[in-house]
Amino acid sequence: MSTQDYQQQALAFEPRAELLRGRVIAISGAGDGIGRALSIAAAKHGAEVVLIGRTVKPLEAVYKEISAIRKDAASIAPLNLEQAVASDYDQLAAALGQRYGRLDGLVHNAAILGGLTAIEHYDVPMWCRVLHVNLTAAFVLTQVLLPALRNSADASIIFTSSGVGRRPRAFWGAYAVSKCGVEGLSALLADELGEGKAIRVNALNPGATRTRMRRAAYPSEDVTKLPEPAAIVNPYLWLLGPEARGVTGQSLNCQPAPPVAAVPAGV
Ligand code: NDP
Repeated sequence: MSTQDYQQQALAFEPRAELLRGRVIAISGAGDGIGRALSIAAAKHGAEVVLIGRTVKPLEAVYKEISAIRKDAASIAPLNLEQAVASDYDQLAAALGQRYGRLDGLVHNAAILGGLTAIEHYDVPMWCRVLHVNLTAAFVLTQVLLPALRNSADASIIFTSSGVGRRPRAFWGAYAVSKCGVEGLSALLADELGEGKAIRVNALNPGATRTRMRRAAYPSEDVTKLPEPAAIVNPYLWLLGPEARGVTGQSLNCQPAPPVAAVPAGV
């Protein structure tokens, strides 16, 4: 099948109620925006969700929402991707291994925007922060969780990309470069893990979505024209579920390409 075929399947996908039943799925940046919506949707479709994130209060709120759907369907794993050191990652992997024994899905969703500035003036410490949170931390988290993913019969890793991760544009600075790196990491890991093997690896671009990050990038935009996070998560669910078994090394979108002169791409 071609990328176009996969893209069509992802966009047309209607998840059934029990799609992710029995699957353990870890999502970074689960407290807000797309990560929050995906965590709740995954739990609604039967998954046990590991909520990874920096700020505990919103993670607790998501935990509460999921507990109302199904008791014990979520756990919280606080992790600040900017500051975490090796022992923090090891602790997370050990706790996850102890509670679940395996991992069936890992969604790298957490990211920061940094500054929208010309390279000539881009703040160097900011550059390092953005590359670290958006790219290096995703690499480390993948590395420590690979043993748990190998314990799954059907595991899915999703890297969250962006329009500027495929076609960098002026002033998107470290964010765009980090997302290009994410695309590269996703393709490389898919190649290493091989086609048809038990762990699939793909990159997904959510497209313009009504979140805090989008507001920061386009402060004067009319947000009512943007979909809510809950409206764009079906392609994530498809990649996490059994129907996408064998789909690996793809770069897909959560939304159809916008018509000309519609919302600006980016973030
Ligand atoms: P939000 O800013 O709404 O959410 C980002 C999440 O990442 C928050 O939960 C945040 O936690 C978490 N996070 C940030 N820094 C860290 C850190 N150091 N450690 C752990 N967690 C952290 O963004 P979106 O929901 O919009 O974005 C989600 C993903 O989608 C990102 O990868 C983004 O690049 C991508 N994307 C978004 C688009 C859009 O239009 N919204 C378009 C294209 C791609 P905290 O609450 O602590 O800040």
